[in-house]
Amino acid sequence: YLRERGQDINYIYNRLIRIMVKRKESSITMHGMRGKSIIVAHDLSPADTIQLNLNRISGFTTDIGGRTSHTSIIARALEIPAVVGTGNITSLVKTGDTVIVDGDDGVVIINPTRETQKKYISKQLRLKNQKKEFLRIAKLKPESQDGFRLQVGANIELLAEMDLVESYGASGIGLYRTEYLYLSSKTLPTEEDHYHVYRKLAENKHLKYVTVRTLDIGGDKFVSHIEVPKEMNPAMGLRAIRLCIRETALFKAQLMGILRASAHGPLKILIPMVSGIDEVRRAKAIIQECMEELKAKKIPFNENIRIGVMIEVPSACMISDLIAKEVDFFSIGTNDLIQYTLAIDRVNEYVSYLYEPLHPAVLRLIQRTVQNAHANKIEVALCGEMAGEPLYTPILLGLELDELSMNAYAIPRVKKVIRGLNQGRCKELVNEMMAKESAKEGEYLLRKMMGEVFPHDFTQSYDQ
Ligand code: PEP
Ligand code: MG
Repeated sequence: YLRERGQDINYIYNRLIRIMVKRKESSITMHGMRGKSIIVAHDLSPADTIQLNLNRISGFTTDIGGRTSHTSIIARALEIPAVVGTGNITSLVKTGDTVIVDGDDGVVIINPTRETQKKYISKQLRLKNQKKEFLRIAKLKPESQDGFRLQVGANIELLAEMDLVESYGASGIGLYRTEYLYLSSKTLPTEEDHYHVYRKLAENKHLKYVTVRTLDIGGDKFVSHIEVPKEMNPAMGLRAIRLCIRETALFKAQLMGILRASAHGPLKILIPMVSGIDEVRRAKAIIQECMEELKAKKIPFNENIRIGVMIEVPSACMISDLIAKEVDFFSIGTNDLIQYTLAIDRVNEYVSYLYEPLHPAVLRLIQRTVQNAHANKIEVALCGEMAGEPLYTPILLGLELDELSMNAYAIPRVKKVIRGLNQGRCKELVNEMMAKESAKEGEYLLRKMMGEVFPHDFTQSYDQ
């Protein structure tokens, strides 16, 4: 992750040099090329990626980069097939070679045989048809067979993703990760910068709600121009709300932007990484200060804006009955919740085998949080990666979450599963799973049920 942030600095470095020597921004030219091509490069900057002409380019592959690099984020947002971080693809491909880029499976094939070409052409056709089917399902209601309706929202990082969010059928934005605003500019975003971005989101008529998460920097997310102390354990250090409470000017610039934009549409504020009630109260007090300032300046904002917290630290789950009395909604962040509950670094490949969303401890914490939220009449969403994995949908439906928020592409698949399930049966499944001793036993039950309800989609994994 840090290596990829280093790349951002390289892009800026090169850009500065170019400006200083008054050389034009390089652009991708396609002289002499006929038809559509695939770009093979050592690296593409986010700016290069944005200017790719999709009528001439059918995909790209690079030596460096990773899933969370901005180039990848943009490729996903614009639906450009891409495989990044191959290591040495530029030394293997020559101009004129025939190349297959399978962004789905992260595979690049150079000069494939006729047979492989045929296989991939039919895969391409299958994916095209699947997409058509997904776009059809995207318009349907996320309602179970027995009439339970929940919201299916989208997680986004860029305004550029808005078209996708609409076409893939999100009812709102369940999680807008605002870190990109800080990562993508050389200076800290001002109140005005925040305001303009959030206003665009707020004014989108297709979205019933937009949940703006305040800065969640630190841990695995790092910004070069925000000074944080060197820490032995950044995931447990001065991050997210802890940093914002300390650096109130930084926090207030963002809050003022959100509040001002709330006059234009259904924005909500989501505070990440809270671990105790004092943090919640302090954050609310700072929001209140911002509201007073706006009132004094006679600037309009929504005085009843809903304020929620991420439940992603086990201590917050354990006292969710108390926190529920302080806020308007919860959003469970399973990515971090799993990390902190099972004591596994979410980006450490050596312990990734322990990263089990179905671990009984994780399921119990989610259940506890939902029960405490509902007992206090507030809604609870789940916005970790777990929400976008169709295999887990029966559990989350059975646990009675009010909203699932996920990357836009996952929405139709999850909707399809919701529409095929009976929530009553899912509740029984949850009871059975809660009695299991391990994630493996729970998963066995889950796959068995999914295999029965969706014999074509889940049998293969069940057989494994
Ligand atoms: C989470 O922790 O589950 C979450 C949604 O937030 P992030 O992945 O940005 O930490
Ligand atoms: Mg998190």
